[in-house]
Amino acid sequence: MPNFFPQPKQLRLHGRARRFDPEAGVRIVADGEGDFARAREVIADEIAKAFPHAVLPPAAGKAKWELRLELGLSRPEPEAYRLTVSGTRIAVTGSTWRGLLCGWATLRQLLDPESGEVPALRDAEIDDWPDIRYRAASRWLVDLEGTGMAYDWGTGPADTFRRYREKIDFAMRHKINFAFFEGFSFELDKYPGYADDLRSLNRYAADRNVALEYGIHGIGIGGRNPEFHDVVHCGFVKGLGDLNRRSYPGGEPYKCMGKDENHPTRYNGSCRSNEALNRLKQQQLVRFVSQVQPRALYIHHEDIGFTTLGTDWLRRCEECRKRWPDDEALSERGALGAVVYGMNVLCEALATVKDPASGYDAARDCKLIFVPPGYGGGEMSDEEWRKVTAMYDMISRLLAPGANIWLCCREMYEGPGNRFLCIDEMAKTIRKYGDHKLFLFSINGADSFTNGGIFTPGAACNGYFRAAECIFNFAGTIFQETQEAYNAECCWNLPPLPEKFVSTPGPFKRPLVFYDTPPEFFRRGGFVRRFADAFYGRAAGKWMVKILELRHGSGRSSLYPLLLTGYMLRKNPYGVFDRTDSLAGIDCKTMHRDWRIVADLTRRALGYAQAMVREQLPAARREELERMVDSFGFGLRIAELHAGIFSARRDRAALRRQLAECRRFVKHCFGSDFLARGDDPESRGSYLDNLERVLDNDDNFPPPKSRRKV
Ligand SMILES: [Zn+2]
Repeated sequence: MPNFFPQPKQLRLHGRARRFDPEAGVRIVADGEGDFARAREVIADEIAKAFPHAVLPPAAGKAKWELRLELGLSRPEPEAYRLTVSGTRIAVTGSTWRGLLCGWATLRQLLDPESGEVPALRDAEIDDWPDIRYRAASRWLVDLEGTGMAYDWGTGPADTFRRYREKIDFAMRHKINFAFFEGFSFELDKYPGYADDLRSLNRYAADRNVALEYGIHGIGIGGRNPEFHDVVHCGFVKGLGDLNRRSYPGGEPYKCMGKDENHPTRYNGSCRSNEALNRLKQQQLVRFVSQVQPRALYIHHEDIGFTTLGTDWLRRCEECRKRWPDDEALSERGALGAVVYGMNVLCEALATVKDPASGYDAARDCKLIFVPPGYGGGEMSDEEWRKVTAMYDMISRLLAPGANIWLCCREMYEGPGNRFLCIDEMAKTIRKYGDHKLFLFSINGADSFTNGGIFTPGAACNGYFRAAECIFNFAGTIFQETQEAYNAECCWNLPPLPEKFVSTPGPFKRPLVFYDTPPEFFRRGGFVRRFADAFYGRAAGKWMVKILELRHGSGRSSLYPLLLTGYMLRKNPYGVFDRTDSLAGIDCKTMHRDWRIVADLTRRALGYAQAMVREQLPAARREELERMVDSFGFGLRIAELHAGIFSARRDRAALRRQLAECRRFVKHCFGSDFLARGDDPESRGSYLDNLERVLDNDDNFPPPKSRRKV
């Protein structure tokens, strides 16, 4: 039985296997225009990529094989399809052109062109459709929502964009139709021609039924504050607009809502009553959307909880006070009224962007996802749940209508008393006012944020989110194809609510599945094993399974091999030298032990990765796996250096040599032509500078109290 990722809903294979020889000709029979014609072209392009010797004669030409593409399947899901194989005749019937591409993805997995085996087909009838309309199973950022583009390896734009297109192909082939693409570095001028490259990339993705999602802050400087930046590396970056100013450009900055009395957040472009600022935001958004033609925008304003919104709001400016006099957060004439007004300003601007030349119409083609303050998630009391639903209720009532306007909320499971699913209730709440949809942002682990794992089964909880229009399982960055495929599986086929993973009943049940992958995932027939064998080939796949299994401890405090160094270097207490160059007050004994463990895990992972690239590999896998070897190589050096610094017998000269070696390694392995400063995901040059200061600090290397006996 072939492996499918995701698994089709209904599948019947029968008859004998017949060798598929596309060099004998594959005639694509497809009669249609517009999207349909583009889908046909994409499938032809895909056949040529999968089978370079394939002959694709014109529609009337002679060929052994026939691939018929048709519309007219009567199912409500735009991606539903029926795939039939009868001898040498293959037919895909989609409910829309999107279904044709999903049918192709299944056909490609039947043929398995990268397996190294002779492709063969048996007669088949496959009927399939997704449970969730939008499946955001890919996240190309390494630093949370912040900068750090996983596929920008510093090798220049052409190479980086080639890699982007390959990842889009991967997404399409696994029925992933949403990728968290670029985050919160709102600039169009990274290099000349950048906007044009992005526009054609968006077109390439959209033609393949993939929406690339851009993160933007809706206030002039986004993120909470400089302290926040230390935690998540995405605070205080350029967003839409500018500071709150009396006039633009360059007028005097003034304070509106924000953190405390003299905190810089109060200048951040948060003033909703400033119409000149609102116009500036509109102009910038229109310019960006016109040039880039994105299919999804994810817009954060203040990244704060609901209680904080209430206290920030008390510090608003006089003009805002006049316009929204209510001091309450949850009030149309208070904070929420102002916040939604700011959202509507952007909706209005977006709707004006149309490009007759390409046919792009932002109001139709671009999802606008707003992340309101206090977006839920985590453990909530009964009272907090009531507030959160009341807030979404009010936002939806005040927000411009439109099915393309989505509200983000975080993962929530069963409501108080386990009487209902939170997301069911939330979806019902916002549906009252029109056709707004929910974008569900679920933090699951293996995200370089809550932990440093490479695989998590957290998406097994997606059944809780069945009412969402889009589920984003917050993982799926570089080296995480297994994760992306699992997330896609759990969105296409919602798993049953995972009772055995669920914690004991509290006010809110929260599944415990995030942090520990059950061993059966790695065994024969388990998801990780099946995907690794199929994607990397059996010989290499077994090493990948070993890498994904590596872990020390269990639960949230588990330690993992150091692959994406950003995680450990940001994490309190491990990345402590982000904040200090002194060892004073640090529990060096524990840190030494933990970094030793991480170094050992990373050494083992590096060994497996090296074994993997020595195996017979599908050519398309080699580049990224060689990168994985380098990344583990860097992680190992970093882990050993930290273990050495925290050691009771730290040897300054040896540590200096290790640090120099880290710098050489970075230079040797990683490029320097990044699309943007700050998008450099691996070199962590500034962190190495911090380590240099640690080694320069004499207090960290006190002279021995007494001469040791020899
Ligand atoms: Zn104001």
